[in-house]
Amino acid sequence: MLSIEKFNFKGQKVIIRVDFNVPLDEKFNITDDTRIRAAMPTLKKIIADGGSVIICSHLGRPKGVEAKYSLRHILPNVSQLLGLPVDFADDCLGRQAEEKAAALQPGQALLLENLRFYAAEEGKPRGLSENATEEEKAAAKKAVKVEQKEMAKRLASYATVYVNDAFGTAHRAHASTAIIADSFDADHKLFGYLMNSEVDAVEKVLNQIRRPFTAIMGGSKVSSKIEIIENLLTKVDNLIIAGGMTYTFTKAQGGRIGKSIVEDDKLELALELLKKAKENGVNLILAVDAKIADSFSNDAQTRFVPVDEILDGWEGLDIGPETERIFAGIIEESKTILWNGPTGVFEFENFTHGSRAVAEAIVRATKGGAFSLIGGGDSVACINKFGLADKVSYVSTGGGALLEAIEGKELPGIKAIKG
Ligand code: AMP
Repeated sequence: MLSIEKFNFKGQKVIIRVDFNVPLDEKFNITDDTRIRAAMPTLKKIIADGGSVIICSHLGRPKGVEAKYSLRHILPNVSQLLGLPVDFADDCLGRQAEEKAAALQPGQALLLENLRFYAAEEGKPRGLSENATEEEKAAAKKAVKVEQKEMAKRLASYATVYVNDAFGTAHRAHASTAIIADSFDADHKLFGYLMNSEVDAVEKVLNQIRRPFTAIMGGSKVSSKIEIIENLLTKVDNLIIAGGMTYTFTKAQGGRIGKSIVEDDKLELALELLKKAKENGVNLILAVDAKIADSFSNDAQTRFVPVDEILDGWEGLDIGPETERIFAGIIEESKTILWNGPTGVFEFENFTHGSRAVAEAIVRATKGGAFSLIGGGDSVACINKFGLADKVSYVSTGGGALLEAIEGKELPGIKAIKG
């Protein structure tokens, strides 16, 4: 596989898939430009080498052409961060895009309009009537798949090289993230720097593990994390289960959980996971105490109680001090750490303490030489909120993509280039 460090883009016309799906306020100002910044090293390298770039991305979830999802909103920011005027094509597949791409000179950049203005990007039919028959649905599906291939070919025709730097969409087999790669031979397609870093970080927690390896899984529901937990049970030494998931495990073992969040249909599964952990020699660690509240609010009355003695009408919204101490001890002795999901309702200031304790323990372990990967939506929000993002080894930009990678799935965007 080609390496971006060694590749010389001089004279090449590069189509690069980035993830510029940034949050915008009501006036279309970017409220967090992390994703745009994350692609800059790759874009700058191509320009510095004397190549030209055709940048493509999605923004939001448009159902068709919708002005509010236009990438034109972010054009000034892209130009400013790249340090050169970036041209814009109003339609990623139109004649204008083709002509502008053809006219690009070395050192120039062009941003294409939102790829998802076309259903073909995702390869999923849109606007099907609710009354559509199975046959109609199948026909629409087939048609959009054909269009998807055509779209990928059209995008590929603009360029001589394809770069994928969009880890956030690597778990999708879309026209621009995977199928486009079929139009380039192995010497003309590669990952960007961001994609490389993400892939390396995942490798470190899946295949290049330094032990002990501890995963901290938080968040609200067991059901959304089953596959990850199952895959991790074959890899980790310690699996810390925290957050709302705790109470499904506690109830399954006969504890009193009051009105804490619980998935009653997953009690059996919780017991099975405990059994599997034992069989695999994994130390599965659950909370021993909880910070409970008499309502789901920041201003609720609170108490600390053993996790299996939660009063009727009360609910556990964070871990307690004894649990914090236990979790921190395990984390600090680890050499590989993966954190996904808060230990409590971190959106409420009064229930952030546990997540902060976990974050701080991870920072201490990292200082001591551990590799720490933080990923998947809310733990990234946590680490940013605590101002500790630069004190851990790696904060992933990919939510769903990271989770699927940790589940052990092959990501289409990665396979398309790696083979
Ligand atoms: P997830 O998206 O599965 O990682 O879940 C993150 C969400 O879980 C956050 O919005 C937290 O507020 C929520 N959460 C964590 N702990 C609890 C809890 N004890 N009760 C209810 N929600 C929780």
